[in-house]
Amino acid sequence: MNKRVSSPKAVHEMIRQYQFALKKSLGQNFLIDDNILKRIVASADLTEDSYVLEIGPGAGALTQFLAERAKKVIAVEIDRRLEPILSETLKEYDNISVHFGDVLKMDLNSLIKDECPPDTPITVVANLPYYVTTPILMKLLTNDLPVRTIVVMIQKEVASRLEAEPGQKSYGSLSIAVQYMAHPKIMMTVPKTVFIPQPNVDSAVIRLDVRSEKKVRVQDESFFFRLIRASFAQRRKTLINNLMNNLYSREQKTALLAALKTCGIDPGRRGETLTIEEFARLSDTLKKTTGES
Ligand code: SAM
Repeated sequence: MNKRVSSPKAVHEMIRQYQFALKKSLGQNFLIDDNILKRIVASADLTEDSYVLEIGPGAGALTQFLAERAKKVIAVEIDRRLEPILSETLKEYDNISVHFGDVLKMDLNSLIKDECPPDTPITVVANLPYYVTTPILMKLLTNDLPVRTIVVMIQKEVASRLEAEPGQKSYGSLSIAVQYMAHPKIMMTVPKTVFIPQPNVDSAVIRLDVRSEKKVRVQDESFFFRLIRASFAQRRKTLINNLMNNLYSREQKTALLAALKTCGIDPGRRGETLTIEEFARLSDTLKKTTGES
């Protein structure tokens, strides 16, 4: 069996041997619990044909388990100081390819093209660095990548936002953006104690199954998202107040009220009560009636 790097002893030993200082600024909280690692991998339903993209392999704890289940693991790590460590911990695997760089700056389409046969569906599995969770998820969902499933450990509070439904406290523009493109499902919550060092917050593993078609059809996606952002700009304000403060001029108020009426949406409601379908209808109606740019 390969030497695991997922025990407190192994992590401390690695830190000492390589004089490696974990960087908080890079979200370096390493997992030290084999059971959690196995459950993350199980949540992704991998087969021996799966191609996996891992973001932030760290010392390789999750990478080892992934490589044992998948055909190939492509790992992207920002911190070059981990190179000698990963060379050691992953040396017995011939199906892992590690790339050093910032995942947010990398051309993932080219990387996938270089590493996988054409038209290969990709599964992303990662214990994400929490300081860049949202930009990473947005990059994975909006760049026309062949990503079909995403299983990631993230802050528990962010996971609830991704899964939230209208009327719930954590429902907001992020919930809508993610649900527009994927089906989210929280697979488990994870205590702080399974990391070195312990983060300040609890975590959750969430699975996103990317939709083959967006949840709703809209005429102008960019306006749809501007409308949503404006509707949530100040959570305690009504929809009409948020839209008048953030999107429309006084002269347009009558047209806005008429559009809301056409859609059967009470202007006194708060943005947080509107479903994605209601936002889509409103977005298309406003485009037509106000000629919104
Ligand atoms: N996978 C390891 C584990 O579970 O123990 C480490 C996870 S740790 C929470 C996050 C990892 O992401 C770190 O290794 C960190 O260096 C890396 N990272 C941070 N920002 C990154 C970025 N922009 N691109 C790629 N990797 C990044």
